[in-house]
Amino acid sequence: MVDLYPVDFLQQALIRLDIIPRDQHCISRKNISDGALKVMSRLRSGGFQAYLVGGAVRDLLLGGCPKDFDIATDATPEAVTALFRNSRIIGRRFRIVHVRFGREIIEVTTFRGHHDSKTKESRHDKKGGNHSRQSASGLLLRDNVYGTLEEDAARRDLSVNALYYDSGKFEVFDHLQGIQDLKNRTICVIGNPEQRYTEDPVRMLRVVRFAAKLDFSIDQQTAEAIPRCAHLLAEIPAARLFDEFLKLFLAGSAARTLDNLLEYNLLQYLFPGTSRCIQQDETTRALVQAAMGNTDERISEGKHVTPAFILAALLWPIVSKQFAVLEGSGEAPMVAMHNAGQSAVIEAVKHIAIPRRFSQPMREIWEFQLRLQRRTGRKALELIEHRRFRAAYDFLLLREQAGEDTGELCSWWTEIQALSPEQRMEKVASAEGNHKRPKRIRKRRPNPAP
Ligand code: ATP
Ligand code: MG
Repeated sequence: MVDLYPVDFLQQALIRLDIIPRDQHCISRKNISDGALKVMSRLRSGGFQAYLVGGAVRDLLLGGCPKDFDIATDATPEAVTALFRNSRIIGRRFRIVHVRFGREIIEVTTFRGHHDSKTKESRHDKKGGNHSRQSASGLLLRDNVYGTLEEDAARRDLSVNALYYDSGKFEVFDHLQGIQDLKNRTICVIGNPEQRYTEDPVRMLRVVRFAAKLDFSIDQQTAEAIPRCAHLLAEIPAARLFDEFLKLFLAGSAARTLDNLLEYNLLQYLFPGTSRCIQQDETTRALVQAAMGNTDERISEGKHVTPAFILAALLWPIVSKQFAVLEGSGEAPMVAMHNAGQSAVIEAVKHIAIPRRFSQPMREIWEFQLRLQRRTGRKALELIEHRRFRAAYDFLLLREQAGEDTGELCSWWTEIQALSPEQRMEKVASAEGNHKRPKRIRKRRPNPAP
C-alpha cells in the first residue's frame, strides 16, 4: 500500500504561506454570491474558520465568473448542519455538506488532513464520519480524515485550485504557489503527480479539463506522469466517470478538452470504442470534433445543450458500423438501427454510466436518421413537428459537416423548414410526383339551377 502522505511531502509542499492583502488582488465581495457570503459569515460567528476555495477563487483572480462557490471550514459536517437548517450531508467516499439557498447550492467541505494524523482522528471519530480507506493499488476509497487549513491545501488537486479567500479579512491565502501558476498559466498537480493520480486517477481528467478550460499549459512533471498512471482510470466506477464526462464536455471548452484527452490517450477510458474508431478514420474524428465545437458554440450563445446529443455523436461511429453489418445481413433498416443502438449502449455502459434519460433520446436521434430519409407524403411533414426533429436534424448536419455522404438530405430538410405550410405540402407532393401520379383534381360540378 502506498504511504499517502509521508511527512516530508507535507513539509516540502508547504513551501511558504503567502497572504495577499485586499489591495493586492482583484477579488471583490460583490462578485461572490450572497449565499456563499452568508455561509462564511455564519460559520465565523459560530467560532469556526471559513474560506472561499477552489474554482471560485481561481476564476475570480483570473477575472472570470465562477460557476459555483465552494467553502472550506474547520467545522465538521455535523457542526455545519447544526448551523444551517437548509443543509444536508452528502457523499460517503468524501463527505460534504450542501447548503441550499433557493436554486443555489453552496458546497461546504471540512478541511481534509494528513491520513496518519491520529490526534485529528480521535477528535472527530465519535460520529463515525472520520476515516480513510485505500485499495490495494493505492486508490483512495474514502477520504474523511479532517485536518488544518495547511493540510487541506496540500490535499487539493492543483495549485491553482488551492487558493483560499477570507471574506472577513479580504485576504487571499496561497500556500502552494497557486498565484505563481496562475500568472504562468500552468496546471500543476500538488505533490508527487504519480502518487496523487494513484490516490485518485480522476485527477488526470481534471488536469486535462482545466488545461482546456483555462487555456493553460500542463507542467512537465504533471504531464509526464499521466501515461504511467492512465490505466488506473479503469478502476473508477462508471457513475463517477459519467459525472466527470458532464464536466469535460458541457462546460464550454469541449473541443479543446477532446484534443487534450486524445493527446494524453485518456479518451479510451471513457469511450474505448470511439477512441479506437478515431484512430482508424478521419471522418469519426471530424464528427466528434464538430459535435464538440457546436456544443461550445451553443454554450457561448447561451443556448440549451443536452448530454444526449454529445453522447449520440461519440457513439455514432460504432452504431453506424454495426448498422451496416446488420442491414447487410438482411435485417430491416429500422430493426438494424435499433439493434445497433442497443449493442452500442450495452458496450458503452461497461465503462461509463449513461442514465436512461439520456440514452433514450440518444437512441431516438440515431433512429431518426433513417426517418429523415423519407421525403414524400404527409408523414414526412409530420416529422418536423416531432419533439426529436430538431436534434435529429442538427445531427444530420453534423454528419454532413464531418464528410459523411448524406445525399441531398441536409439541404432538403433545411429548405423545407423555411417554407410556409402550403409550400411544404407542394414540395412534398412534387417529390411524391417523382414516384406516384399526382391525384386528379376533380372539377367542381356547377350548382344546379334553382
Ligand atoms: P469548477 O467548479 O469550475 O469545475 P472547481 O475547481 O471548483 O472547478 P470542483 O469539482 O467544484 O472544481 O471542486 C472544488 C475544489 O475541490 C477544487 O478546486 C479542488 O480544490 C478540490 N477537488 C475537487 N476534486 C478533487 C480531487 N479529485 N482531488 C483533490 N482535490 C479535489
Ligand atoms: Mg466548483
